[in-house]
Amino acid sequence: MDLLNTLLEIQDLDLRKSEIDKQSTSIPAQKKDIISSLKKDKQIYEAFNEQQKEAEKACKELTYETDKLRQQKAKIMIQSGDTKDNSTYTKLVKEADSYDSRIDDMESTFLEHLDKVADIKSKKKVIAEQLKTMIGKIEQDIKDLDRRHKNLVESLPDTIAKRKELAQTVDEETLIDYERIFKSKGSFRAVIVPITHDTSCGFCHIKLSKKDTSSAAKGLGKCLECGAFLYK
Ligand SMILES: [Zn+2]
Repeated sequence: MDLLNTLLEIQDLDLRKSEIDKQSTSIPAQKKDIISSLKKDKQIYEAFNEQQKEAEKACKELTYETDKLRQQKAKIMIQSGDTKDNSTYTKLVKEADSYDSRIDDMESTFLEHLDKVADIKSKKKVIAEQLKTMIGKIEQDIKDLDRRHKNLVESLPDTIAKRKELAQTVDEETLIDYERIFKSKGSFRAVIVPITHDTSCGFCHIKLSKKDTSSAAKGLGKCLECGAFLYK
């Protein structure tokens, strides 16, 4: 294989390695993002749990208070039945009756809270379903990411070995020059590029001189502006 094609192949492997490294390092962050998307729904669910607890506590307290009022009323009714005095009797019955509206109010508040509990429960059910679906999807996404990561990592030694083998056939000076340029341009872009159809550098797009193009035509040229390797 001639120098140009060997270098192009080395570049391909270098680009692949950069991509593997980039994707490998981004995978933990991707996982974190996926998991944090659950957080919001979980928080909503927790908030409903709290609301339900409060409404249930209110129901319990109202039941207790209503029972207390009923007992007090019953006591007064017994007292009124025992009394021989007519005016005391009337007074006691009136007092007992006054409990009714308070008991009614408490019962309607109790029903309101009971409705609230039912409403919260149905909202929780919807969110629980959403969470279940999301968790299923997340588990699958994480599995896919792990598989991708594994494949990437597994392909790395092969890429490195092939690259090493090819690098041995290139003269040291050219190789060091290529590696320096590749790294200086961020390691994600090809720095061995064809001359464009309008005789510009394929990397920085500067118009090339005749001298530059003729050296590229012979095999491997260089852009004096950006350092890219040029070929025709
Ligand atoms: Zn250039």
